[in-house]
Amino acid sequence: MISRQITMKSIGMVVIAVLPLLAQSGQPSAERIREHVRFLSSDLLEGRGVGQRGGDLASEYIANQFALAGAQPAGDNGTYFQKVPLIGVEPGLGAELSATAGNRTESFAWLTEFVGPSLQQIPDTQFEGDAVFVGHGIAAKEWNWDDFKGLDVRGKVLVLFTNEPASTDPKFFDGRALTYYGRWTYKYEEALRRGAVAAILIHTTPTAGYGWDVVRSSWGGEDLEVQLAPGEPALAFAGWVSREAGDRLLALAGKKVDDLLAASESRDFRPIPLGIRIRGRIPSKVRGIETRNVAAVVPGSDPKLKDEVVLYSAHWDHYGVGDPVDGDAIYNGAIDNATGCAVLLELARAWAARPQKPRRSALFLAVTGEEGGTRGSQFYAAHPLFPLAKTAIDLNYDALFPWGRAQDVVINGAERTTVAPLAQAVARRLHLTISPDSEPEQGHYFRSDHFSFAQVGIPAFSIDHATQFAGKPADFYQKAWEEFNQKHYHQPSDEFHSDWDFTALQQAAEFGLLLGTDIANQDQLPDWKPGDEFHR
Ligand SMILES: [Zn+2]
Repeated sequence: MISRQITMKSIGMVVIAVLPLLAQSGQPSAERIREHVRFLSSDLLEGRGVGQRGGDLASEYIANQFALAGAQPAGDNGTYFQKVPLIGVEPGLGAELSATAGNRTESFAWLTEFVGPSLQQIPDTQFEGDAVFVGHGIAAKEWNWDDFKGLDVRGKVLVLFTNEPASTDPKFFDGRALTYYGRWTYKYEEALRRGAVAAILIHTTPTAGYGWDVVRSSWGGEDLEVQLAPGEPALAFAGWVSREAGDRLLALAGKKVDDLLAASESRDFRPIPLGIRIRGRIPSKVRGIETRNVAAVVPGSDPKLKDEVVLYSAHWDHYGVGDPVDGDAIYNGAIDNATGCAVLLELARAWAARPQKPRRSALFLAVTGEEGGTRGSQFYAAHPLFPLAKTAIDLNYDALFPWGRAQDVVINGAERTTVAPLAQAVARRLHLTISPDSEPEQGHYFRSDHFSFAQVGIPAFSIDHATQFAGKPADFYQKAWEEFNQKHYHQPSDEFHSDWDFTALQQAAEFGLLLGTDIANQDQLPDWKPGDEFHR
């Protein structure tokens, strides 16, 4: 009797102990997300730099967690890794930039006044050319805008602003929202297409959307590039100067930053040859880098649909060990993007734990090289592990805020795809409202990995950080976001805090899990809405 009682009691205890675990196992957990963020952003991982030991450790950890979750390897040769070969170009010691008009020369100081790489992937680049101010450097037929007005800028050094012309017309350049023409990447691409030698952006905080310290930490270090083909042309310098340096440069031509910025707001703007000769020398450490994406798959249950995949992505890399700020050289990247990786790991675990799998497969992809210009996702889009035409959607996670319980979700770009009604239904189920992008002028859509997938036709968007948190004052989000953006974004102080509340990340994971499941189970592959520029 006793023995039997004990046995029954033991069984009862086992059942009681196991049931909550089983119930939890298919659900994302805020506490698991917390522990992934804590580890991935610890000093031990040295900021998860690409081509650095910390990055190798981070990607190994992610592969290991995929394996423990029961997600299968989806990388090269039966491994969890997809090799991504990149060229690292680190400009630095001895970099020179000067501007001469007549007998007057202004020289600029590396890092404090100018930064940026040579894109030629050689150890020592020297260049010179006549400076031409080209406004925002935009030629956009659809907006009837041309900053070049037919001027031949071959061999010139372009001086310009990032962003796009300001306007109160909500339709002009999509109103407040930044179009691709406003992105600095477009400026350098257009300069190269027109045969310029170099392009130098004059930084202002309003046009860039961030301060000089962000420019300095983002461009002052190693630049990651896809290797140039033999003979492929590249800019000798794709750089920035600070606003103060811009004023000193323009003063040689009797001009000012504010006046030229005002002039470049006009459709009648014409490029201005400045009568200045710009010379530069950019010594660089050039190295081949072997880095890797991490990929795991959970096969679908429908024999006909299981070769199609719902793709979840998040970048694992951050800036690694870099330029010290207040004595701290480790760019931990806790929010950017240990948070997204942690959600990705929880999604893989939850998906793999379900006894009945959705019809399509789920692919979990932690990409490398995002901070260096979304290189890992670009590489994947060019070398996909599953056919792009059979990739149903990309749901991306990049930088989530652990500030409590979310009341909303931001899925900028979803409204342009056929999954918009599903997303609305999932939001309703989770009692979340769908908020618009709170900073459309920042061009977030072009600034993370989902854009690489959109460019090859896959419906793609990020499940972004919340903007409304339960029980907080009305101005809480705006203040907290500004503080993060100004003080911690891409700085060594983007560090883990033990008082963070990860509920919002659990909610973002739940949203992605439910939406991905619905997409995996529906009959039709999703697409961009007809007429969208990214349509398959
Ligand atoms: Zn970042």
